[in-house]
Amino acid sequence: MNLITGHWIPVTRQNGHADIIAPWQIAETDNPVVEINAPRPDFQGALYQLLVGLLQTCFAPEDEEQWQEYWQDAPEPETLQTSFAKVAFAFELDAKGAPAFLQDFDLPDGETKAISALLIEAPGGKTLKDNLDHFIKRDQVNQLCPSCTATALFTLQTNAPSGGVGHRVGLRGGGPLTTLIFPKAPSASLWHKLWLNVLNQEDLEVAEKIDARILPWLGKTRVSDKGQITSPSDVHPLHTYWGMPRRIRLTTTCEDAVCDLCGKQAEKLYREFRTKNYGTNYDGAWLHPLTPYRFDPKKVNLPLSLKGQQGGLGYRHWLGLSLQDAENGDEAAQIVQFYNSERGRVFRDHGSASLWCFGYDMDNMKARCWYESRFPVYYLAEIQRNNLMAWAGELVSAAKEVVKMLRGQVKAAWFRRPEDVKGDMSQIDAQFWQATEADFYRLLEQLATLPADTRMAPGKIYASWYKTLERQMLRIFETATLAATPEDLDLKRIVNAQKNLRGKFYGSKTMKALKAKGTTEEAA
Ligand SMILES: [Zn+2]
Repeated sequence: MNLITGHWIPVTRQNGHADIIAPWQIAETDNPVVEINAPRPDFQGALYQLLVGLLQTCFAPEDEEQWQEYWQDAPEPETLQTSFAKVAFAFELDAKGAPAFLQDFDLPDGETKAISALLIEAPGGKTLKDNLDHFIKRDQVNQLCPSCTATALFTLQTNAPSGGVGHRVGLRGGGPLTTLIFPKAPSASLWHKLWLNVLNQEDLEVAEKIDARILPWLGKTRVSDKGQITSPSDVHPLHTYWGMPRRIRLTTTCEDAVCDLCGKQAEKLYREFRTKNYGTNYDGAWLHPLTPYRFDPKKVNLPLSLKGQQGGLGYRHWLGLSLQDAENGDEAAQIVQFYNSERGRVFRDHGSASLWCFGYDMDNMKARCWYESRFPVYYLAEIQRNNLMAWAGELVSAAKEVVKMLRGQVKAAWFRRPEDVKGDMSQIDAQFWQATEADFYRLLEQLATLPADTRMAPGKIYASWYKTLERQMLRIFETATLAATPEDLDLKRIVNAQKNLRGKFYGSKTMKALKAKGTTEEAA
C-alpha cells in the first residue's frame, strides 16, 4: 500500500458517516472530514502528527498571510494531491529492495518479532519469559492490516522508549508529550484542526528536495553501533517530524483475514517484522515544534521534552504546557507559542481554541498508561500574556503549598509515626488538584479577559482562590481521615493533625499574602 495515494485513514465525515480516506482528502469541502477515527487513542494522536508532518513537509505556507488564505478556504483537494504526490515514492509501506515507510533502508539480518511488538505496551521479551504479562496479554494481536501497521510504525518511531541495549529512544526522548492547538467549534473540519498546527516557512525551513536528510528511511540508516550520534545539524529541520530510532523491516504477511486491532477485513496483513539494535541515536538539542520542553537555566544540560506524568495532567502543568513556567524552566511547544503571540488572532471573531495535550506515562520501557487533557489557550498582547503568567503562577504556587500541608497532615492523622511511613499519598494530591480545578480555570478565564492596561489582578480573584483552597483542603482532610475504618480511628491524633493543618494554613506567609491581596478593593 502507498500511504500517499492509497485510502487508509479511518475518519468521520460531517454527516456522521465513517470513511477511509487518502491523505489529500482532508481538504474536501463537500461533506468534509471532521475527525480521525483511529481504533486506539495513541493511534489518534499519531495520525494527527503524521498528517501535520505531511503538510509541514509538502505544503507549508510561505507566510502567515498565505496560511490565513488556506484557513479561510481549504486548498483544492487536487492541489493537495499534487503536493503530496512528490513524496509518494517514500511512502510505500511494503517495498522489496526499495525504501519503505519508516523502515530500515537495508536490513538483511536481525531478530524476527511478532507484529504485536510494534505496539508500545507490548510485553517485552523478558516480561514474556517471566510470565508477567498480566495486563497486556500475548497472542491477542497476531495480524495487523496495512492501516494499523503503518500507524503502529509511526506511533513507535515517534514515541520509542528505551528498548534494551542499543534499541534507541525517539528523537524527543521516550514517551514525549505532544500539544496541538485544537479549534473548539464542534463543526470544525479536520483540515482546520490540522492546519492550525502547521508552521509557515518563515519559522521552519522548507524542503528543497526530499531525501534522507528529511525522511531518514530513504538512505542508509545513520547507525550507532560505534557510539555515533545524530544531532540536528546532521539532518534537515523537517527530520524532527519523521524521526526513526528503530531499525525495522516488515516481513511475514498473510492474506484475506481480519485485523486483530481494528477488526476490518484486509487483503494483506502483517504478522512479523525484522529488527536490529543500534539504529539512529538522536542526541543534541532537538526541539520538536509540537512538544513542550524543560530548559536548563544554566544552559549546561540539553532541553528535555516534557513527559506524561503519573497522576495525569492538570492545571498545575498548565503554565508550562501553554505558556512558560519560569519556576521549572518549562516552555510551551513552538506551535503553541506561535499561536499565543500571532496565529491566535484568527480566533478573535469566531470562537476559540484549546490545547490538546497527550502522551504516555512511561515507566522506563513500559507504558503505564495513556493520558490526554484539554487546556485553555489565550491569544493576548505580550504585556497581558506576561501578567497572566505571573498571576496564574501565584495561584498555582499557593495551591502547591496547600497540597503539601494537606498531604503531611493526612499522613500525620493516619499513622502514629508518619515520618517512618513511606505510604503513597498521591491519591490525596489527586483529590485536591481535581477539587480545585474548575475554580482555577474559572478565575483564569477572568484574568485572561481583563482589559489590556490592568496592572494588578483584582482582589476578588485572590479572595476567591483563598476560599477555594481553604474549603477544599479542610474538606479533603475530613473525608480522608474520618472516613477511615473505626478500629483504625484515633480521634485524638486526627484532631491534632487538623489543628496543625489549620495552623499551617493560617500561619503561612503565602496564604497571608493571598488573603491580604484579596482584601484590596481594586487594582491599584
Ligand atoms: Zn487494522
